[in-house]
Amino acid sequence: MANSEFQYVRLHETWDGLAPDNWIVVRIDGKGFSKFTKRYDFAKPNDRRAIDLMNAAAVEVVKQFVDIVVAYGQSDEYSFVFHEDTTLFDRRAFKLATTIATTFSVEYALQWPQFFPGQPLTRPFPTFDGRTVLYPKLRNLRDYLSWRQADCHINNLYNTTFWSMVQLGGMTPTAAELELKKWLNQNQGTVSADKNEILFSRFKINYNNEPEVYRKGSVVFREFDDPPPSTDTNIDPHSATNPPTPTQPHQTQTKPLSKTQAEKERKRRQKARVVVEHVDIIKDGFWDSRPWILA
Ligand code: ATP
Ligand code: ATP
Ligand code: MG
Ligand code: MG
Ligand code: MG
Ligand code: MG
Ligand code: MG
Repeated sequence: MANSEFQYVRLHETWDGLAPDNWIVVRIDGKGFSKFTKRYDFAKPNDRRAIDLMNAAAVEVVKQFVDIVVAYGQSDEYSFVFHEDTTLFDRRAFKLATTIATTFSVEYALQWPQFFPGQPLTRPFPTFDGRTVLYPKLRNLRDYLSWRQADCHINNLYNTTFWSMVQLGGMTPTAAELELKKWLNQNQGTVSADKNEILFSRFKINYNNEPEVYRKGSVVFREFDDPPPSTDTNIDPHSATNPPTPTQPHQTQTKPLSKTQAEKERKRRQKARVVVEHVDIIKDGFWDSRPWILA
């Protein structure tokens, strides 16, 4: 672009590149979904069609951005985890958050008819906001994901109890809320057990038999059919900054990926199957049995 006397305003833009060596989480969240879910008569507490639509949109986002290593979704939110070494968009925070939020929003709206046939979307159309959060250590990232899954559990237990009291117990929403509040105030710390108890004694619902998709949320990640590229070239799929892992002999210093290697790895990730599972990600089991996800 030719220089002009107006160009100086460019200097009003600030650089928002995120610090290196941090895992980047982009969390998106539906705007005003309490209202939106009413407008489209979502089943309460959990509308399975809406969860499937969220997951379908997330799968497309993960497919499109190979630097996303795992994503976790519940309710009207999804967290997309970018590898700590990603250089996508020069790690610019706004570019990452806005691109993921808009990509997700478009997927959600355009796939809507497949999940809600006969209920066409009308304005205001559903949109999602997005933010970036940095986690310097794997431990922080794991704790972040555990926090979201624990949140899913706490909300779902509350909502399942609340809606059972309303739908099965014939209580008004106000009365149900009041009673749950009373329990909460009386029994700090043992509230989970109390809700389990209400569910079982009054409605013969064993919370642990509720579908995993509601209790655990959804995890999206890649499954590879082909083995990772051989390690004798010491390929680090993301960058040159990782120190050698204990299994690598010291003489093989991690080198930056050549263009062809990087391209090969990108293709491999594009070819991978992107799967959705409803499993525990708080304990180590999930991660230990899929070491490639956070490698
Ligand atoms: P904000 O714009 O601040 O996010 P919000 O109304 O979206 O406002 P949230 O805290 O994000 O507030 O709440 C999301 C709402 O959407 C909750 O009420 C939740 O119960 C509802 N919801 C999300 N997914 C489903 C679903 N699959 N079935 C039923 N309700 C859902
Ligand atoms: P980035 O994702 O970094 O923005 P980009 O490819 O979108 O990459 P821009 O600098 O935003 O890069 O360039 C926008 C491109 O779209 C230009 O090549 C411009 O010529 C083209 N374009 C935009 N609007 C029109 C239009 N109405 N007709 C023809 N070409 C257009
Ligand atoms: Mg432009
Ligand atoms: Mg780090
Ligand atoms: Mg919301
Ligand atoms: Mg939300
Ligand atoms: Mg552009």
